[in-house]
Amino acid sequence: MSANDSRLSAINAITALEPMDLSSTDPLSKIWATDVFNLAKMEECLSKNAFKAMKKTAQTGVAIDSATADIVAAAMKDWAMSKGAKFFSHIFYPMTNATAEKHDGFIITNPEGNAITEFTGSLLIKGEPDGSSFPNGSLRMTNAARGYTAWDSTSPAYIIHTANGATLMIPSVFMSWTGEALDKKIPLLRSNSAMNKAAQRVLRIMGETDITTLNSSCGAEQEYFLVDNNFINARPDLIQTGRTLFGAPPAKGQQFDDHYFGAIPERVQVFMQDFEDQLYRLGIPAKTHHNEVAPGQFEIAPYYEAANVAADHQQLLMTTMKNTAKKHGMTALLHEKPFAGVNGSGKHVNWSVGNSTQGNLLDPGDTPEKNLNFLIFCGAVIRGVHKYGSLLRAVIATAANDHRLGANEAPPAILSVYLGDQLEKLFKDIQAGKIKPTKNGGVMDLGLSQVLSFTRDPGDRNRTSPFAFTGNRFEFRAVGSSQSVSGPLVAMNTMLADSLDWISDKLEVEIASGKEQSEAVVTVLKELMDLHGSAVFGGDGYSEEWHKEAVEVRGLKNIPTTADALPAFLEPEVKELFERTGVLSPLELSSRYEVYAEQYIETIMLEAKLVIDLATTSIYPASIGYLSELLLAGSTAQEMGIELDDSIAKNIATASNTMLKDVEVLKGLIEKEEFESTEAHMQYCAKEIRPLMDLVRVSGDALETLVDDTAWPLPKYSEMMFIK
Ligand code: ADP
Ligand code: MG
Repeated sequence: MSANDSRLSAINAITALEPMDLSSTDPLSKIWATDVFNLAKMEECLSKNAFKAMKKTAQTGVAIDSATADIVAAAMKDWAMSKGAKFFSHIFYPMTNATAEKHDGFIITNPEGNAITEFTGSLLIKGEPDGSSFPNGSLRMTNAARGYTAWDSTSPAYIIHTANGATLMIPSVFMSWTGEALDKKIPLLRSNSAMNKAAQRVLRIMGETDITTLNSSCGAEQEYFLVDNNFINARPDLIQTGRTLFGAPPAKGQQFDDHYFGAIPERVQVFMQDFEDQLYRLGIPAKTHHNEVAPGQFEIAPYYEAANVAADHQQLLMTTMKNTAKKHGMTALLHEKPFAGVNGSGKHVNWSVGNSTQGNLLDPGDTPEKNLNFLIFCGAVIRGVHKYGSLLRAVIATAANDHRLGANEAPPAILSVYLGDQLEKLFKDIQAGKIKPTKNGGVMDLGLSQVLSFTRDPGDRNRTSPFAFTGNRFEFRAVGSSQSVSGPLVAMNTMLADSLDWISDKLEVEIASGKEQSEAVVTVLKELMDLHGSAVFGGDGYSEEWHKEAVEVRGLKNIPTTADALPAFLEPEVKELFERTGVLSPLELSSRYEVYAEQYIETIMLEAKLVIDLATTSIYPASIGYLSELLLAGSTAQEMGIELDDSIAKNIATASNTMLKDVEVLKGLIEKEEFESTEAHMQYCAKEIRPLMDLVRVSGDALETLVDDTAWPLPKYSEMMFIK
């Protein structure tokens, strides 16, 4: 079968498809968290003391002792085996956006040759996968590549069912034998502790006495595309890179805007139901789903949870989504920009901090005292976005997200913070000295209950901001759809910890000098706004004027590519931030820089090779094949004395020649191997290789609009997006 046959037969195959039959759908109460060894299950099968210890661990992060670990391990094994599990695995999150696991059997044999099962506390707590194949940056030198996993007992174990049986999965951290973080979970846990420490301090200064552990929370909205596998199989670029390296824009695109919140195609509905049922079994609270802006694009948002658990659930959600889509004959594309010129996919990370005694500190309260706390935390975020804007940009920097950020449907590559009209005015008034606190702090009452109702009104929401206050949380919108949420959460928690400490230092001085509490807060926030208020922006983030004003007037940075963004990890201020807060040592930080830079370079090199390959072996042959047909028709016509228009033939010849010429240049470019530094290598990818890939694409896409439709080998945009 020739390639073009496979494209057309793909269309035929799909149009003949019936949605999968999901006749047995169980009620939520029957399936909720059935595959999770959560606190409710522990309460059923653990002794009172063991359960108490586990509950404390889940709430405060304090580790359990080895006797408790043995009891928990035994109960966990019995539970898992009753669900059919024969294997267990420590699952961890290496510095790539992936997850990793190594499976071990519960089985051991006794001297009589009988198979018995064993799962001790030490097996539960610590595993030893061979770390050598996971990226570890410069840490490779210090640890001879040995890695250890350790159970993160604040995140519950669960069962994964595959055709190969059931496996008990144990969420774990991954570290070197010298204790360095090799994963995305350790820094997240550490950043949460740093935030807790700084928050406790400032709350005590504010006169709070009963303060339980503070936790960060995360609710992530995940966007994705669904494409039928018959199409995917005919697109080597989608298979290997997750995005189309060629493809002319469709005649019917998203300009009709009829997809957003529109009716969900039946096949997709069936997929969603299956997918969400599985999430429920895994204890992941899937809450909303809807169509997204582009045709074939959708969104799922679980209800928010403690950041550490939410991060694990996010990874599990992405894996479950991909596996379920496969089962339904589709591929879930999590790439940030699978289709050029069409809306890309992001992951809005909704984030707040709070505890059981003070509640959500990013929720404006009903009383003046609560409002003071709110203003402090909100101010701390403003300072963080301003002072560490380049870090926030770096944690969302990937080769894929570069296609999305700064485009006119995604947050700009300039980090600013949106507060909503009312709250922005309040902070500006504080800065202008217009707000004078009274003795009892009563002035803070002013308008804050209105702030609450206004900012919660979706009409007041600014969709063009990369970082927005949305009533009781901040929403980091520039995060990429395929990314782990950990990096962004680590950056947010850590910058908050730093800012809260800065505020505490200042408050202590003001209060020591005899100021009233509320007066001290206003004084410190005024100073904060003088220094950092320029990051507050409520206008249109997509506009030309903003790009100019941000950079030229406000001194904010516009950081367009990953090559420009990642070096922020090496900035002295960022290094000091992570060291001071104990979240990442300088070595851990620089190893992250190396790993991410390498991923960026490798992604672009792979794409460049594939561009050369597709242009040469797929697009060129199809174009020349059709050209020779045209030429033959032309000469036959001439013999018969008929005049045929030869403009298409000429345009095909020109575009084919240009394409081949650019392919040759690109081939030369990717051969270069010696670079002064990693940064120089990244810049080379961004400034030399990518533009050439785009040039090759221009010719390839022009050819798609010239060549006979039935002879075109690659499934077209309109087909992949509309045919389900
Ligand atoms: P929208 O699309 O309007 O932003 P969604 O309902 O799709 O809203 O998603 C909002 C996300 O924010 C959900 O995951 C929700 O659970 C989460 N969320 C709500 N409140 C908080 C909070 N205080 N902290 C963190 N996340 C929150
Ligand atoms: Mg949102």
